[in-house]
Amino acid sequence: MKITEHVYLVGSGHYGISHAFDSSIYVVDCGSELVMIDTGAGCDVPGIIENIKKDGLNPEHISTILLTHSHADHAGGASALKASYGCKVCISKIESGFLAKGDDKSLKLDVAKRSGLYAPDYTFSPCKPSETLADGDRRSIGDFVCKSIMVPGHSEGSMCFQVNLPEGKALFTGDVVFAQGAIGLLNCDGSDLSLYRKHIGRLSGLDIDLLFPGHHVFVLSEGQGHIHKAIESLKLIGIPKNFL
Ligand SMILES: [Zn+2]
Repeated sequence: MKITEHVYLVGSGHYGISHAFDSSIYVVDCGSELVMIDTGAGCDVPGIIENIKKDGLNPEHISTILLTHSHADHAGGASALKASYGCKVCISKIESGFLAKGDDKSLKLDVAKRSGLYAPDYTFSPCKPSETLADGDRRSIGDFVCKSIMVPGHSEGSMCFQVNLPEGKALFTGDVVFAQGAIGLLNCDGSDLSLYRKHIGRLSGLDIDLLFPGHHVFVLSEGQGHIHKAIESLKLIGIPKNFL
């Protein structure tokens, strides 16, 4: 589903365009190559590929998969996509070990299954990342530059990805920040409110127009205002509004 001139939503359980376990999966058309941000849970990778084709894009042109973090709903499809298209899979160094190991405990799938977010028989396909990302890394992908911004809090090494597109400054936030300033704090290892407080400021002053979170709605103007709400809420005494 084409959202803007260069950004496509090719998977999402929330919008019913792919498997129910899938996070939002975005593709950015960078001209000569495509970059995919997150992959969904891996339960129906052919369905994602079909969506990409329906949007008039060639999945063979996916050069890079950027993973916001290693949770299964975002990273479960990486292994199959890498095998099919030979694309690079990039994730923060902290999360890379969880992705490669892929066991339920590392991925916090044990508690997620207990919580009813996944079927008990769901299995994650581990994936050895091609490259690891550090905070502030900038990579040229086709016509655009993608900046990695690490914001631990939802998970130990959650990354946001900023791409300045002709239609506006875009930020792909995974589970760090959602529309209306909700955050992705979980009651499991790796999710930590104090890490959120410490690092959320990295998203201030970016002047983001387009906000593309990993779940629920995306925002096509004044995205920074939604991010600002999250930053301000983390300065107050109450637990901020959460996405779950
Ligand atoms: Zn997550």
